[in-house]
Amino acid sequence: MQQTETIEFDSLQTLDEKFEYAKSMHLIANFEEGLSYFRILKTEYEQVKQYDKVIDCLGWICQNLANMGRVEELYKYLPEYKAYCNEYGTEVNRLKLNTYLAFISASIGAEESAIEYYNEAIFLAKKLNDTKRYLLSLINLQAVYLIMKNFDHANEIAYEVKRIFDRDPRVKTTMSEAAYYLNLITIKLEWNKLDEIEELLHSFEKINEIEKHSREVMYYRCVKGRYFNSLGHYEKAIEELEKAYDYVKKTEEEPFLTIILENLIKSNENVGDYKYALQYANLLNEKLSNQQKKQLRSETIKVIKEIDLDSMKQLVYVDGLTSIPNRRYLEKHGSKLVDDANRKGSNVYCGIIDIDHFKNINDRFGHIIGDLAIQQLAHVVKKALPEKVVFARYAGDEFVFLIEQVEEAEAFFQGLFNQMTNFEFRTEELEVNLTLSMGVASLYDCRDKELKVLLDLADQALYQSKNTGRNLISFYNNQESAFI
Ligand code: GH3
Ligand code: MG
Repeated sequence: MQQTETIEFDSLQTLDEKFEYAKSMHLIANFEEGLSYFRILKTEYEQVKQYDKVIDCLGWICQNLANMGRVEELYKYLPEYKAYCNEYGTEVNRLKLNTYLAFISASIGAEESAIEYYNEAIFLAKKLNDTKRYLLSLINLQAVYLIMKNFDHANEIAYEVKRIFDRDPRVKTTMSEAAYYLNLITIKLEWNKLDEIEELLHSFEKINEIEKHSREVMYYRCVKGRYFNSLGHYEKAIEELEKAYDYVKKTEEEPFLTIILENLIKSNENVGDYKYALQYANLLNEKLSNQQKKQLRSETIKVIKEIDLDSMKQLVYVDGLTSIPNRRYLEKHGSKLVDDANRKGSNVYCGIIDIDHFKNINDRFGHIIGDLAIQQLAHVVKKALPEKVVFARYAGDEFVFLIEQVEEAEAFFQGLFNQMTNFEFRTEELEVNLTLSMGVASLYDCRDKELKVLLDLADQALYQSKNTGRNLISFYNNQESAFI
C-alpha cells in the first residue's frame, strides 16, 4: 500500500500536482504519508522560492502532526512557520497559523493562550469575511470555555453561532451544527435548564448524515446520558453512557472520559448495581493516577514551549526533520561569511553533498524510511565536519557546508568525503549501504564573489560527480572559469 502511494507521488510531473496528491492523503486519513510528502514539497518549493506554497506546506505539516497528536513535533515547526508567515504570508496564512497555535495551546492545557489565539483567528476571519473559518474558530473557542467551565462565555458564543446560522443557513455543516447543539445542551445541563433540552436533542437527531460522525454521536450519547441521570431515568442513562464509553475508551478523549465515568458510577449506584459502580470507580481512579503521569509529560512540553519562545529566532533556522540548520540559515550566515572573507581577502570553500539514487530508497521502502535516511546522514556529516563550519540541509537529500581557508584543500576534502560516503543506513528492519556524491568550489573560483555564485559552482562540481559515475568528489575547475 505504502509503496504504491510512494511511486504515484514521485511519478507526478509538477510540484502542484504533487501538492494536490499530498493533500488527498488527508481525505483518507493517511497523515503519516501526508506529512512526509509535505516535508518534501516544502524543500522543493523553497528551492524555487515559491514562498506562498512553502507556507501552505508548513500549514499542512502542522495539520498532519496535529491530527496524529504529535504536539511536540508540531511545536518544532511553528517558529519557522511563523517567520515565513510574517515575511511572505497573507492574512489567511496568519489566520491558519493562529488556529494551530490555539490548538496546541489547548492540547497542552494552556487554555488562556488558546483563547488569545482563537480570538486573533476570529478577528482575522471577520476581517476577511471568511464565515467558514469564523464559525470554526468560534466553536473551538466555545469548547475551550466549556473545559474551563466558563459557561457564560460559552453561552454568548452559542448566541453568535445561532445568529450566523439564521443569517445564512448555507454555512451550516454537519460538524458545526452538531457542535452547536451539543455545546448548548452541555450549558443547559450545567444550568439545570432541563426543560429546554428535549427539543435540542431532537434537533441534533435531525442533522443530515449525523450517524456517520461517530465522535459527535459519542458526545450526543454522553449529554443524553447526563440528561437522563438528571431526570432520574438511570436505566436509560446507563444504556447511552455505556455506548459512549465503548467509543471513548479507545480514544481516551478528555473531558468526555471523565464525565462518562462519573455518570456511569452515579447511574449504576442509583439502580443498585454496586458491582458495576465499583468497576467504573476503579477505572476512574486508574485514570486519575495516569493523569499524574500525563501531568509530568505536559510539564515537559511546557518547558519546551518556554525554550521555544526564548529562542524563537534561532529555531527559525532549524530544519524540522534533521534538527540541523536549514537553508534560511545557510543563506543568511553564509552570505556574512562570504562578505567577511572578501573583506579580508581570504578564501571560503563550499561543499555540496547529495545521496546517490536516493529516490530508490523512497520507492523501495517508502518516504518515511527515506526521512530516516536523511536524518542519519545529517548525523554522519555533522560528525565528520570540523566544528566551526556553516553546515545546513539545503534541499531534500542535499547538504551544504562552508569552510574557511584550509591547507591542502584537495586532500582535506577527499578525507572528509571518505568518512561520509558508503555510510550504512540502518533501521530495525533493514541495512543499506548508501553512497554520496560531492562537489567543491572555492570563493577564489568565483568571478562575482557572492554566496549564490559559490553555491552554483559547487553545484556544477556535484553535477560532474553525478555524471562521471557517482560515489565521487569533484572540484570545480577554475581553468574553465577563466575561459568563461
Ligand atoms: P541522484 O543520484 O542523481 O542524486 O539521484 P536521486 O535519486 O538521489 O535524485 P535527487 O537527488 O534528484 O532526488 C532527491 C529525491 O529526494 C527527490 C524527492 O522525492 C526526495 N526527497 C526530497 N525531500 C525529501 C524528504 O524530506 N524526505 C524524503 N523521504 N524524500 C525526499
Ligand atoms: Mg540524490
